[in-house]
This record gives sequence, C-alpha cells and structure tokens, in this order.
Amino acid sequence: MLICRKGFRHAYRDKQELTGAIARAERMAREYGVAFEPLDGRALQRAEPNLLIPLAGAIQWLDPWTCRDPEALVAAYTKLFKAAGGTVVSGDAMTLHARQGKWAVDIPGATGPMVARDAVICLGSQSAQLTTRFGLRVPLFCKRGYHLQLKSSRGPNLLLVDAKNSTVLAPMVSGLRILTGAELSRPSSAGTTSQLNHAIVSARELFEIEAPRDADPWMGNRPCMPDMLPVVGAVPGQSGLWANFGHGHQGFTLGPTTASLLAHEMAGNSATFPELSPCYRF
Ligand SMILES: Cc1cc2nc3c(=O)[nH]c(=O)nc-3n(C[C@H](O)[C@H](O)[C@H](O)COP(=O)(O)OP(=O)(O)OC[C@H]3O[C@@H](n4cnc5c(N)ncnc54)[C@H](O)[C@@H]3O)c2cc1C
Repeated sequence: MLICRKGFRHAYRDKQELTGAIARAERMAREYGVAFEPLDGRALQRAEPNLLIPLAGAIQWLDPWTCRDPEALVAAYTKLFKAAGGTVVSGDAMTLHARQGKWAVDIPGATGPMVARDAVICLGSQSAQLTTRFGLRVPLFCKRGYHLQLKSSRGPNLLLVDAKNSTVLAPMVSGLRILTGAELSRPSSAGTTSQLNHAIVSARELFEIEAPRDADPWMGNRPCMPDMLPVVGAVPGQSGLWANFGHGHQGFTLGPTTASLLAHEMAGNSATFPELSPCYRF
C-alpha cells in the first residue's frame, strides 16, 4: 500500500501533556476544522498492540494521508509526466543561462544545451545559490533531518509521533523507519549522530527494534524560509524564469501542489502567487 489514508497519531507519555494536547487539538478543530480523535492509554494500546509500555494516550489526526514509499510515489509522478508527453534529462542546473530570449541548461554528452521558453528553479537547498545569479536574493536555510530504516518491525500500525522525544516512527513498505526532528546545519556540513541516537533510544522504549537495513542513516535537508512560506512565482525582471522552492517541512506534500498552481500561471492564467520581491528583507 503506497498511500495510507488513516491519519497519524501524536502519542503522549504524560497525562498532563495529553490534556494540554487535547485542548490544543480542540482549538484547531474549532478554528480550522481539523478532525481528530483523542485516545486514552487503553484505546491506544488496543490500536497499537506492539507497544511495550503503557502511554497516557494519543491524539489521532484523522485527515492526513501518509506515504509508505516516497521513492515509489516520485517514480509514479515521473511515469505520469512521461505518459503526458514529458521528457526527463539530466544536467547541471547551475549552468542555466539566457539564450536568445529563452533559457538553456548544458546537458553532458548532448550536441547542444536544452533550451526552453520557461525554466523553473526548484533545486531544494541549492535554489538560492542559483536565483542570486538572476537578481533574486533569498535567505534560504536548512533544517536537516535523519532517518534509520529497519529491515522489518513489530512497530506501530499507524505513523506515531513520540511527542516528548520529537521522534517519528513510520511504518513503511520496507519496514519501520525512525525519524528525527530538525537540526539547523549547512547543507555541506557533516552529519551528526546525537538526534538519531536519541530517537533510537526512545523508539526502543516503545517497540521491539530490529537491526537497521542500511549501514548508514539517511539525512536530508528541509529548505526553509524564515517565514516558513515557500518561494513561488515569477523571478522579477527575468522573463520566463520561475521559482518553486523553500517548502520546509512540507515539501514532499506541498511542492507538487504549488508546482501545479505555478504551471497554471505559467500557461498564461492569472497569477496565483504574490509578486516576489527581488530581495527578501526580514
Ligand atoms: C527527515 C525529513 C522528513 C520529512 N518529512 C516530510 C513529510 O512528512 N512531509 C513533507 O511534505 N515533507 C517532508 N520533508 C520535507 C521535504 O523532504 C522537503 O521539503 C522536500 O524534499 C523539498 O523538495 P525540493 O524539491 O524543493 O528539494 P529536494 O527534495 O532537495 O530536491 C532538489 C533536487 O534538486 C537536485 N539538484 C540540486 N542541485 C542541482 C543541480 N545543480 N543540478 C541538477 N539538479 C540539482 C537535487 O539532486 C534534488 O533532486 C521531510 C524532510 C526531512 C529531511
């Protein structure tokens, strides 16, 4: 199953924290219509029989979907794109340059660059480096995250956040995945181990944890803006050049959504996004 439509749970070890979380969830439901169900310790244990220790309870968010194999989902997007007539080629996007009123990127081994009327800068954490060359300076920074993929597991049935320890336990097609919170770091800096070690300890308290599938943990960067809003729209003063990056913690979900809205705008429809300022000031 690629997509699970049953929501996910924030679990609490402490009764007082659970009470506070329920009050916050009630406010979210009232003000934003977010659906949830509170579970006491017994209901949580019934839903998650692999839990090794009793917890105070959980909030079950009912609306979100989760993806149990992000790589397969991206492969499915690529297949859809090709079926609609798209072509996928690889080249260094940093070679982007203007060429006779169009945009060009060098493609290794090809007879000439790939040329198009429009180009979208969407290079994750590398995006700001390229936009600066075209006059758009953005204070993009990274929040790194780590995960460890286990071979198989006796973990949770539904994605579970151990709220106290900022640890996410995600059942994936290929077994249990343990994820960390955010670490402020430069994209080029070496990985650290403290957050993941902490997450593994808290995961072990909750579930029987088996051997990791991969020798090294995965690390990835969440490209963030100080206001946590993505940079989407026309690059000022550069006809046919567009931006779609900086989606922070939600890029896997939100990136395709803003891309679809941007494609609508690029096709000549009225602008969906406010004009980008050539230089963000915070
Ligand atoms: C631990 C963790 C958990 C997360 N969980 C979630 C979640 O649950 N839900 C969610 O929505 N989001 C989640 N995210 C955030 C999400 O992964 C990011 O927001 C998203 O990946 C950003 O997408 P992007 O396409 O902008 O950048 P990226 O995914 O970084 O993609 C940028 C691409 O550009 C390519 N590139 C860079 N430079 C060049 C170049 N010079 N030439 C050619 N190609 C280049 C890179 O190779 C890469 O493929 C999580 C992130 C982390 C780290």
